[in-house]
Amino acid sequence: MIFENINRVLILAPHPDDAEFGLGGTIAKLIEKGKEVFVIVFSLCEKSTPANFEIGAIEQEMYASLSLLKIPKENIIVFDFSVREFPARRQEILEQMIEVRNKIKPDLVFIPSSSDIHQDHAVIHEEGKRAFKFYNLLGYEMPWNNFGFTSFVYNPLDDSHLNSKLDAIACYKSQNFRTYSSPEFITALATLRGGQILIKYAESFELIRLIAK
Ligand SMILES: [Zn+2]
Repeated sequence: MIFENINRVLILAPHPDDAEFGLGGTIAKLIEKGKEVFVIVFSLCEKSTPANFEIGAIEQEMYASLSLLKIPKENIIVFDFSVREFPARRQEILEQMIEVRNKIKPDLVFIPSSSDIHQDHAVIHEEGKRAFKFYNLLGYEMPWNNFGFTSFVYNPLDDSHLNSKLDAIACYKSQNFRTYSSPEFITALATLRGGQILIKYAESFELIRLIAK
């Protein structure tokens, strides 16, 4: 199946923590199976640092979280586009994606879904489709940003995969005031998606492009 026949996976994350929320369990499972996982983070969101945290806190949390998921540091590519200002810099963002694409040549790319209404996520979705139009593309789920979500692809998760996702998200102490950061919320979504395919836990994805082999 799609997750078995691939070796190199690239995740386009507009901000730190998007990869973990969208597919933290899937990352844990892919790495367990020996796949190589790369992440591009387009902004370190310094403007979103809560008043009681130091600038740079989110970056440290991100490295802790991605290292907990066993993504090697050299596979994490970080850009410094300002948060919520991606729409004004879409061409530059596209060019950066193409440069990384030509170096990594991934077999599968995860991007924010087509129903994600956050302005930065929408830019990464649109430019991601342009940069990777000849690649397998899946959209990841963020219910608090999604106006409707077509969950056509399911990845079953073991308890250990969900626990890794929960532990990774818990690294973001500066962001844990958000309702959707709670373990209950994250577990409920995994339970819902698992229940749809009669198993305990899953993550689901929007099918954007699949090149059958
Ligand atoms: Zn985001």
